[in-house]
Order: sequence, then C-alpha cells, then structure tokens
Amino acid sequence: NHPLDCPVCDQAGECSLQDLSYEHGAVETRYEFARRTFVREDIGPYIQLHMTRCILCYRCIYVADQITNNRVHGILDRGDHSEISTYISKAIDNDFSGNMIDVCPVGALTDRTFRFKNRVWFLKPLDAHRNCEKCAGKVTLWNRGDEVFRVTSRKDEWGEVQSFDGKPGWICNTCRFEKKNTSDWTIEGPTTISRHSVISAGHYVGTVTPPDPLKKVLHGRQPHLLLDIHNISEVNQPDVHLSEIEGPAVGKTFDGEVHASGKNVTDVKIGLGPNKEGTDSTNPER
Ligand code: SF4
Repeated sequence: NHPLDCPVCDQAGECSLQDLSYEHGAVETRYEFARRTFVREDIGPYIQLHMTRCILCYRCIYVADQITNNRVHGILDRGDHSEISTYISKAIDNDFSGNMIDVCPVGALTDRTFRFKNRVWFLKPLDAHRNCEKCAGKVTLWNRGDEVFRVTSRKDEWGEVQSFDGKPGWICNTCRFEKKNTSDWTIEGPTTISRHSVISAGHYVGTVTPPDPLKKVLHGRQPHLLLDIHNISEVNQPDVHLSEIEGPAVGKTFDGEVHASGKNVTDVKIGLGPNKEGTDSTNPER
C-alpha cells in the first residue's frame, strides 16, 4: 500500500523500504487496489506527517513512549483504516520530539526545516559534538560544503539511533534545529555509513578499495573537510545560502531574489482541512 513516489519523496536515499526493494530486486508492485491517501499534517513547527507513506511500524510511538510520560498518540482504527492518531501533535510537544523523524523508516515523518532543500546523497555526513545540557550532544551534521543543512542523531548499520554509555543517543531539539552553523560544533570527521543505501555509495561492505593516496600527497597536512563551495561552483552563487532560506529553492532564488523560496508548509494545522492551493512545496508556481 506504500506509494511508489520515491522520486518526489524527501526520504529517498535513506528509506529502509527503498533499500529493501533494491536489495531484493523488486522493481514493480503487485498491489492492484486503490491506495489509501491522507492529507499532510504539520505537527508542530518542526515535523510533517504524511500518513499516506506510513507503514504502521509503531517506531514513532515507542519513541514517544520513551521520551514522554504522557504519550497520547497511537494507532487508531483497524486494518486498512489504521492511522497514527492526530493527537501525535500533543505527544511531540517536548524537547526531544525531533527523534521521531530519525526513527521513521520511510518518508512519513520528515523534518520541516530540511524538506526539499537538498537530496541526502548530495550532502556529506560528519560526526560532530557539542557540550549540551539536555542531551549527549553527539550528532551527525549533513553538510554541503560549509553549510549545515540538517542535524540528526547518529545511526548504526541497522538505521537505529546509536547508544552511548548504554543510553540511547537521542538528541534535543536545540541541537537538531537551532545549531546549524559549523562553528556551533566540534567536527570529529566523516561519518562511516555501513548501511546499504544510496547515501553509502562508495562505502559498500566487502568492496576492495585502493589505498587512499591523500596521506601521501598531503605530506602530513590535514585535508580540508569543509570547502567553501561558493568559491568552486558557479551554481552555488556567493550570495545564495540554500540552508538558510525558509524553504526549498526556486528559480527566483538564483535570479537575484536570494531569499526567495518555495513554501515548506502545508497549511494543514493539527490535522484539519485540505491543503490550500498554492502553498504546497511541490507546487511548481512557488
Ligand atoms: S515511524 Fe513512520 S512509518 Fe512508523 S508508524 Fe511512525 S509515522 Fe508510520
């Protein structure tokens, strides 16, 4: 029942379902019936729920159980009518709500501050940390050049959030949504992605890679992990900062209006009413 909309889904490249399809060579669906569809919901300022893509894995519910004592969301109804309760918006009113985005294996729960700003395979994941009062502060930064596009918790080869000192490495919303400057973080180095997926391209398990010549040619100097992409690319014009504009870039962004962006909201608040025309991030007019 999951839609085959990978080309327009923000989770593409890091979706467990997509990875499984590739792994098992499933190129087409055998599902012949009408698919169930739902309107999108903005649940709070940071998360969007696209129930159409939900595979009812219950992960977000278990996480909500761990991060709050007052979980008020779960699966409502049965069978084909099952859906995540809209009371999820109340459950996520806490400082660790962003972790539900990380555990969602498909594109049902996505980061509203990152949606459609960049494809994940264009970004370079880096392990980084900061001293945080609320969480362990150990994260993965997703950079393009020197711009931080998003911050996530660190994941293991099964796509699960890593544990540190026997505790789950949940990160707080301050680290995730408010610390998007490289200077906020101490960079440890490139993230090793051991999972089979598009974002691990070039890092497949079992492949034999030639010795890295970098050390030889750098004569003891450290490689520059963070390049200023504005200096080396004509596409990334010096005054355009894709990570800082409100939503996804549009034609105008590169045509003089450097702050112009598509709107990354659905206008569906707390699960009520249909999307309004012209405000959807996929609307070509925006
Ligand atoms: S984690 Fe994602 S796919 Fe799983 S139940 Fe929650 S919204 Fe649905």
